[in-house]
Amino acid sequence: MKVTSVRSHVLGYDMPELLGYSQQYYARRSAHLVEIETDEGLTGWGECFGPGPVALANKGIVEGVIAPLVIGSDPLDRDVIWHRAYNMMRDHGQKGMPLQALSGVDIALWDIAGKVAGLPLHKLIGGAHRDSVSAYGYGMMLRPEPAVELAARFTDEAEAIREMGFAATKMKIGLGPKDDIRLAEAVRRGIGDDFPFMADANHAYTTADAFEVGRGLEDLGAYWFEEPVAPEDLEGYAELRARLKVNISGGEAEFTRWGWRRLLEARGLDIAQPEVCALGGISEYLRVLALCHAHFTPVVNHVWGSAISVATNLHLLAAMPPLPGGLFPWEPMLEFDTTDNKFRDELLTEPLDIQGQLRRNHGRVRIPGGPGLGVEPDRDFIRQYKIA
Ligand code: CA
Repeated sequence: MKVTSVRSHVLGYDMPELLGYSQQYYARRSAHLVEIETDEGLTGWGECFGPGPVALANKGIVEGVIAPLVIGSDPLDRDVIWHRAYNMMRDHGQKGMPLQALSGVDIALWDIAGKVAGLPLHKLIGGAHRDSVSAYGYGMMLRPEPAVELAARFTDEAEAIREMGFAATKMKIGLGPKDDIRLAEAVRRGIGDDFPFMADANHAYTTADAFEVGRGLEDLGAYWFEEPVAPEDLEGYAELRARLKVNISGGEAEFTRWGWRRLLEARGLDIAQPEVCALGGISEYLRVLALCHAHFTPVVNHVWGSAISVATNLHLLAAMPPLPGGLFPWEPMLEFDTTDNKFRDELLTEPLDIQGQLRRNHGRVRIPGGPGLGVEPDRDFIRQYKIA
């Protein structure tokens, strides 16, 4: 079997409302899908992390740089292809966009491998440790409005997310320590005393400010404090983890086994959040997962994007070994964005309907069972929303 084409589809639409996190507000939703065709009629689908203009630039890397290295190869040689592509791009970027682009290609090759074997992705990896997972719902995005109004909105939104059947919820922070703590108090009011919540700063803080926020989160019993400081600041992560009681999480902006090696060796993470659509795809995710577990660091995958990303992550969460294991083991959760996203809810011929599953199955989400990723994108939908 040979690869005959590698194509990117960048999709976009205007959001019903302006949403934001500590780095920007955004008015458009986008997704970047990769489609790989073979001479035997099998097609694989992948996804690259990176919104808007980043997706457009990544399309150039997928089709202009990586595709010529893949076309004509046996798609089952995915690890050979990974290393050939990485070695060619290494001098031009060992993190960031080249790896995001390679991720989508690698995921599509795994989808093909599953379809060739007639096995779901999790079976190809080694089997399912669990046939369903719980999910945490993130929302409470920033909006361009006064902190007092945002706090009232956060209370209502947090309560609504809890009512949807999620196991926990996650809010955005990054307004500044004082306002952030008020927002976290508002979330706690909405969910009550016995429901876990997490706070995501998207690296908005210096270490000194992150300590102030972290202590406030501790007082409110937050489960984790995500990306408190810049991803390059490994020492800042280590200082925060050593002196705060709240779990420190991060890693969505780290790439490959080499980047993750340094991040883990710095001992700054209680919980690792690898992003499979960014760090180098499934091939590299499995190596990063092994590194995380070699450092006894539990993993809760970072999940962002379309139904392709959600399906990929469901398989990876199923195939994740328990750490450390036991009769009542620590369990990973699916990260789920509760804000408007047609590319997650309407892309597939048979939608995953995560929120419906949570309602019907007591807060559990099934792992897809079909070959490969076990999902099929709707080509008419792709044509309708394709911008590049
Ligand atoms: Ca995050």
